[in-house]
This record gives sequence, C-alpha cells and structure tokens, in this order.
Amino acid sequence: MALSPFRRRGLVVLSLAVTLPALVLAAIAVGLTLRISRAVEDESVRFNTYLAQLVAEAFEQELMDHLRHGVVAAENVARSDGTVPQILSALASESSEFRGPHFVGLDELNGYSLLIIESQPLIYSVGDGAHAGEQFSGVLMRDAEGQVLGAGGWWMSSREFLTGHLERVVQDRLPSNPRMYGGFESTRRLSVQLFDPGGLEIGRVRTPEYGRTARIEALQGPFDGYSVRVAATATSTVVWAGRFVTLQIAFIVLMALAVVVASVFSLRYTVRQLELAQMKAGFVSNVTHELKTPIALIRLAVETLELKRVRSPEEAEKFLHMIGRETIRLSHLVDNILDFARLEAGQRVFRMEPVPVAQIVEEALETFRPRLEHLGFTLEEQIPEGLPRVNVDGTAITHCVLNLLDNAVKYSKERKLIRVAAGANGDDVWISVTDQGIGIAPADRERVFEKFVRLETGLIHDVKGSGLGLSLVAQILAAHGGRVEVESEPGRGSTFTLHLPAAGGMVSEPEEPGRRTAS
Ligand code: ADP
Repeated sequence: MALSPFRRRGLVVLSLAVTLPALVLAAIAVGLTLRISRAVEDESVRFNTYLAQLVAEAFEQELMDHLRHGVVAAENVARSDGTVPQILSALASESSEFRGPHFVGLDELNGYSLLIIESQPLIYSVGDGAHAGEQFSGVLMRDAEGQVLGAGGWWMSSREFLTGHLERVVQDRLPSNPRMYGGFESTRRLSVQLFDPGGLEIGRVRTPEYGRTARIEALQGPFDGYSVRVAATATSTVVWAGRFVTLQIAFIVLMALAVVVASVFSLRYTVRQLELAQMKAGFVSNVTHELKTPIALIRLAVETLELKRVRSPEEAEKFLHMIGRETIRLSHLVDNILDFARLEAGQRVFRMEPVPVAQIVEEALETFRPRLEHLGFTLEEQIPEGLPRVNVDGTAITHCVLNLLDNAVKYSKERKLIRVAAGANGDDVWISVTDQGIGIAPADRERVFEKFVRLETGLIHDVKGSGLGLSLVAQILAAHGGRVEVESEPGRGSTFTLHLPAAGGMVSEPEEPGRRTAS
C-alpha cells in the first residue's frame, strides 16, 4: 500500500529541510577553505617574487664583493704608482676563478659599460677574440691621489661564477630569519634554480616542489640573459597548506555526501515504516472483515436451520453447505494468522519427515475440491507417478498449496481453469498452481511475497484477503531450504511454483523431531 502523495511530499520537504542547509554549509566551507588556500598562495607568490629579486641582487653584490676583494692587491699597486704589468701581475696572483687579468686604461673605458651596484661602479663589456663569449668584469682603479687610472679586472665566465657561488648566495647572503619578510615562508624552505640564457638549468639549491607559485627574475649587467627561479620546497607552508586544503575539501565533500545518503536512507526507511504501519492498519481492518463475514453467514445459516425457516430439504442442504464453506474459510484464515504470528515470533516448529509429493498435492486438493466445484472451476491435474519424496512438514507445505489454490480462485475472473502440476528435476522437486486470472505486473512480482502486501488491482475491493498468504508461503519454503517463484502475464494468468529439495537418502527414517524457523 503506497503512501499518499501528500504525506510523501511532506517527508521529502522535511528531509530537504535537513539536507539543503547541510549542503549550503558544506559549499560555504569549501568556498572559505579555497579562499584561505588562495590567500596562502598569493602570499607565497609575493614572497617568491621578493626572494627572486633578492637573489638577483645578491648575485650582483656577490660579484662586486668578489671583484673588490680580488682587486685590493692590484689597487694598492696602482696607488703606489705601479706600472700596468705590475697591476696585471697583482691581479693574476689573486683570483684563480677569473681568467685573463686585464687593465683598461682611462682612455679605453668608453668601450665598456658601467653598472652601479650599491653605488659601486662595476665595469664590464662583452669580450671578443680569445675571450669571446666571456665577459670582462672589473672595478675602477685609482692612483694615490684618488684619480681614476682605468679599470682592473678579469675575463670571466658568468656560468662558472654563478654556479660556483649559488650556494653561497642562497645560504649566506639571504636572510634566513623566518620573520624577515613577515609572511609565512622562510628562505630555508625555498628552492633557487639558475638558468642560463638558453634556458638550461645550471645550478640549484634544494629541489622545487610546487610550481604554481614559483617566480622567475632576470639577472642584469654581466649576467644579462641569466635568470633565477624561486619555488616552494616540500616543507613550505604553501605546499602543506595545499595538502591540508585538499584533505579538508575531501572531508567536507564526504560529510556532505554522508548527510545526503543518510537523509535519503532515513527518508526511504520512514516511508517504508509508514507504509508498513498503513499496511498493518489495512490488515487489521481486512482481517476483521474476513472474520466477521463468515461468522455472520454461519450464524444466519444456523439460525435459519434452528428456526426451521427452510422451505425444502434442498434449501437446508444449501445452508449446511454454506456453513461448511464458511467454516473452511474461517479456519483457513485463522491458520494463516496463527502461522504468521508463530513465524514472526520465531516459534513455528516444523516436523520434518519424508513425504511423497503426490500426497501433499492430493491432501490440498481434497480440502479444496468442493470449493472449486461449487464455484464452477475446472481442475487439471498433472501429477506423474513415481515422484520422489521431500523431507518436509507435510501440513505446512499442504497449507502453502492451499494458499496458492485460494489465490488462484480469488484472482480468476471468467476463465475458471486451474492447473496443478508437480515434477522433479534432479534434486529439485516442484509443485505448481496455474490460473488464467488477472495476472501480476512485472514490477509487483517481488512485492507480492512481502507481508501485508495486497496489490491495487481492480479486484482488491471485491476480493477479500489479509495480504499474508504469499509471505507465509515464501517463509515456509525458505525454512525448508526451498523457494517460491512466480511467472505471470497481466490479464492472462499466473503460475506459482514451489521448489523443494528431494529427500534423497532420508526417505524412510523420520528426521529430527522439529526445526525452528529463523526469526
Ligand atoms: P491476499 O490475502 O491478499 O490474497 P496474498 O499474500 O496471498 O494475500 O497475495 C498478495 C497479493 O498478491 C494479492 O493481494 C494479489 O494482489 C496478488 N496475487 C496473489 N496471487 C495471485 C494470483 N494468482 N493472480 C493474481 N494476483 C495474485
């Protein structure tokens, strides 16, 4: 029995009232988390830009200091009026790292470029001849009176110089105080790479881990064309913040999913419970009606007979027949209700013994035949000889067949033909009941075996029932290690088949005294 659309809509609205705010909160949480992560990234970009500039400046400063240091001896020679060869030999004695000591006279200096680093002039020029591809780097030299004589310096390979000094520049020249910038990052958590004018990496300090916030800064002067790239390493704030953000978003999404799944499940559960409650209420009213009707008919018949209000013996027989029929109906219903109650409580005890299949079918038909005849049904029996025995509680299985026969009658209209058949297929022994009634739609074929389920067919209001019959059949068969199947075509009829395992070697001796069903 389905829930009314109004109640169903109410429940859906209720569960949306829980789910939607949860989803909105999750979306806000994801948005905020992404904003925090973006802020951390922006901070990282700013710091990397700043650091790349620092590295570039530090390189130039390193060169300047290095040159200054190397030139001191030569400058002393110049100040004490030393000759050019003496200046050159002083330069040559200094730095093995630079090649080709060179003195550029004042009059030649106009071919050279001047770069001021922290107010110190650095003279340089792209070399040619023997030093092609190398650059000249030097500083101005003065005589004893402080007059500029020219520039002293060396031909140098920027590549060698930069590679050799990279570590020193990064480790010694950059501030390592994490607070120096006021941001999240520290120079110790950054990687610095050097690239030559061809874009080739010529040196690195620490491995870069996170390219998104990396920044590149071009070097100048003698290092024109070279560049430094500063990127975060694995231990940088931006990297672990990125990981936490991913984790946090995953958690938020999972939580949102859990809320959605939980509310879908609780919605379905509530709908199911309400439907069950509704079905139980329907069941009580059905059963009450089912009990009252035969009782009223029996009372009427008994009173009529007692008061001798019958006009002929045929009429008396009709009333007696009615008492018999209604008593069977009543006892069938009471049996079903008792069986159901016992099965539900797990107290139904089955007395298993090897029983011939034909005997089960015959017992059921014997009880049912008068009703079939009375209602004008034709019965076809297809029970072959020599069918194996089944190890069952004979009364319970007979009761199942009776339930199937009862349904076949109830759900047939004009075509009053019922076929009862039995057979065996290896270990599988089966009994089937076929009718040519209203049939069951494919979507309902599973549902009919659920307790209290009565399908909304056109007949439902005319045909009485409790919605227990097939659920009992399914439970009893399951307790016997068997199953019940249905094949049906709406409008043409249905076949219900009980499958039971053959008794095998246990044919003669009675089995265990009783067995309880699973609760
Ligand atoms: P009921 O007491 O209502 O017959 P059952 O559990 O025996 O309860 O059957 C459940 C429902 O399955 C019935 O209400 C009916 O709609 C459908 N049904 C059962 N047997 C047949 C059949 N032979 N043909 C068509 N519908 C059937």
